[in-house]
Formats: sequence, structure tokens, C-alpha cells
Amino acid sequence: MSDKTIFQRIIDREIPSDIVFENDAYIAIRDIQPRAPIHVLVIPKRFSARLDDIHDSSELGELMQTAIQVARSLSPDYRLTVNVGKQGGQEVFHTHVHILAGWENGPQGH
Ligand code: 5GP
Repeated sequence: MSDKTIFQRIIDREIPSDIVFENDAYIAIRDIQPRAPIHVLVIPKRFSARLDDIHDSSELGELMQTAIQVARSLSPDYRLTVNVGKQGGQEVFHTHVHILAGWENGPQGH
């Protein structure tokens, strides 16, 4: 049994995903269980389990810049969220930013 995270297996092409953006350092894929009309995950290829494990401010900044760039390519307005830790709603322990967008009247109760 592999101890890679599901996102590492996606990065390594061991399991398929719907890729919307990729470069040397990041991959952005459509969420398998979308909670908005547009729901994309931006995942750094350099492994960290959770956002607050990234201590380098330029690495953090680049992650946000990449998430913004991908989000803007999908929708003029959007929501970015990061779940940090189990109590924060994190299920996959490989840092990622959610892009949520495409609601007709904004997120409302989402
Ligand atoms: P978290 O709760 O950790 O912030 O978010 C993990 C997200 O990954 C969830 O929204 C979940 O639907 C998504 N996810 C889990 N497994 C897969 C998968 O195999 N493929 C894709 N594309 N998304 C996944």
C-alpha cells in the first residue's frame, strides 16, 4: 500500500484527474465532489501536509498568486478557502487551496 497522499498520486499520474493548470511547481484539478459550479484545487507539488507547515513567505505568496491566477482564468469573482487540520475541515493532508466560483447569485448559504 502506497503511503503517498491521493494528491501525490494525482501529481505522479497514478490516478486520473481533470487538470485545469499545471507548471513545474503546481497542479490545479477539478474537485471530484464539487461543492460549487466551479470547484478547483490548487496543489503545490512540493509536499507539505498543511498550510501552516509552509514557513517560507515566498512559497506561501507563490501559492496564493498561483491560486489567484487560476481562479481568474475561471471566473472574475471567486472564493478561495484553505482547510487547515482535521477540526478545520481538512481531509487530504497535502496542502491545497480550494477555488469555488460560478454561483448565479454569489455563494449565499454555501
Ligand atoms: P479538504 O477537505 O482536505 O480541504 O479537501 C479535500 C478535497 O479533495 C475534497 O473537496 C475532496 O472532494 C477532494 N478529493 C478527494 N479525493 C479526490 C480525488 O481523488 N480527486 C479529486 N479530483 N479530488 C479529490
